Amino acid sequence: MNIFSHGGSCGHSCCLRIQGLSVKIGSDTILDHIDLHVHCGELIALIGPNGAGKSTLLKAILGQQEFDGVISFAVPGQRSRSPKIGYVPQSPGFDPGDPVTVADLFACCMSKRPAFLGISKAMRNQILTCLERVQGEDLIDKRVGTLSGGELQRVLLALALEPIPNILILDEPLSGVDVDGIETLMDMLDDIRKNYDLSILMTTHDFASLPRYADQVALIDRSLVSVGTPVEVLGSDAFRKVFNRKGGIL
Ligand code: ADP
Ligand code: MG
Repeated sequence: MNIFSHGGSCGHSCCLRIQGLSVKIGSDTILDHIDLHVHCGELIALIGPNGAGKSTLLKAILGQQEFDGVISFAVPGQRSRSPKIGYVPQSPGFDPGDPVTVADLFACCMSKRPAFLGISKAMRNQILTCLERVQGEDLIDKRVGTLSGGELQRVLLALALEPIPNILILDEPLSGVDVDGIETLMDMLDDIRKNYDLSILMTTHDFASLPRYADQVALIDRSLVSVGTPVEVLGSDAFRKVFNRKGGIL
């Protein structure tokens, strides 16, 4: 990823620019010349039908997918540093019978100490501090496989926030989460980006919550179909055409 110094419209926080990004897998063009600018501190929703290339775009940003084009990033005053990216992957499956607790999951990711030695008091306190960011201290001793969809997403979010990233990327964090859980999670993401001044890029099929929470919506279907405010994109002919809807959703 290129690092560029700030200029122009981005006065604070970080800024991600995607220019002419294309991904080919074999002879299949998965993404075709995508241009996207994730502005400072914004929440951008990436939408599109299944197979549109949303997860592939996120993987390219994360450095897990080869691509043509340019992905560049800026933090004011930090020309030589790579961005810290927090990532919440798409619905990881955990078995309800699996004995792994939330504390174990954090300790695996955060501690160099072998798991069989147990979790030190200091590590437990560190985990509680992380869970506090998502109001999830009460989840620390729960088995990961028994968490509700919303609880699991909050735990994964807490993991992605340690250390606090410049950009937070979430792949369909709202799938498998009930209506109340969606509001809780979106309110939380809204607070997090304001409190930590970070940018959020998330994929979702939950269009109804976008006007309230998203600054920009990018509709992709292998190429960039439409980008703008939620009202602009969700009310567009392009949106209706891609999702084969007679009326818009607004
Ligand atoms: P979305 O997240 O929008 O549902 P994806 O980015 O997961 O879409 O996938 C876009 C397309 O790329 C799909 O047709 C998928 O089958 C294909 N694809 C993704 N990864 C690979 C891969 N590693 N090998 C071959 N095809 C892939
Ligand atoms: Mg996907």
